[in-house]
Amino acid sequence: MSEMVSTEKGLIFNIQKFSINDGPGIRSTVFFAGCPLSCRWCSNPESQNRNKEAVRICKDPKLMGKEWTVEEVLKEVEKDRCFYEESGGGMTLSGGEVLQQHTFAVALLTEAKKRSLHCAAETTGYASREIFAEFVRHIDLLLFDMKHSDREIHREKTGVYNDIIIENMRYAVEQKVPVIARIPVIPRFNASLGAAREMAALLKDIGIKEVHLLPFHQFGEKKYEQLGLSYEMLGVKQMHPEMLEKYQKVFLDEGMDCTFR
Ligand code: SF4
Repeated sequence: MSEMVSTEKGLIFNIQKFSINDGPGIRSTVFFAGCPLSCRWCSNPESQNRNKEAVRICKDPKLMGKEWTVEEVLKEVEKDRCFYEESGGGMTLSGGEVLQQHTFAVALLTEAKKRSLHCAAETTGYASREIFAEFVRHIDLLLFDMKHSDREIHREKTGVYNDIIIENMRYAVEQKVPVIARIPVIPRFNASLGAAREMAALLKDIGIKEVHLLPFHQFGEKKYEQLGLSYEMLGVKQMHPEMLEKYQKVFLDEGMDCTFR
């Protein structure tokens, strides 16, 4: 008799098909609702816990998300299995913060691995060591967000200190989980060359070999309006790779592969 698939449910706000920037090949990206951080530039404000009330008032089903079982998610994801096989792709868990729903995430990953799917996750790494260690055991690639090397500045703009995040990134590298550091480059936060140098030194010390830079964009602006939330980045200009050549060079000079996403 075949083993039962978990009946655990997860709150998911989107499953995006044909993603090409969330790991190797063509992928389906599963966006988990809920995030313990509150980054001022967040383009998914509906996913932040503090905004639950705003999401409820908004009543837009796309922003509210819905509950899915493991089987339902995999049924949707596996529709594109032929594309994953041709391109070396698979499934990526993203958010919000996937570790907020770690029990569901681990159940989903366990079943996905049984079905031989390549599993990546984009995460802030903000969780206890116990939760994080259990999670990364099932992961083929971590796209690990690292926002600022300075703990006070990190707390001021994201709501949390970065200590656990740095420790968990170090742990993942020690466990030989492939890790790519992802840095959202945000004006008035971490877009200076000084911030880049400090970040590069930290990542080099941890043993990171590859970095993705994500220049600031305004994709989330409309959502703040829909949710009736104030938006600190209103009117701040978008950034483009051409503006960040010197920033990128800081990481290249430290021997890291560094590209834009
Ligand atoms: S970690 Fe990501 S999802 Fe969470 S608040 Fe920051 S930008 Fe938004």
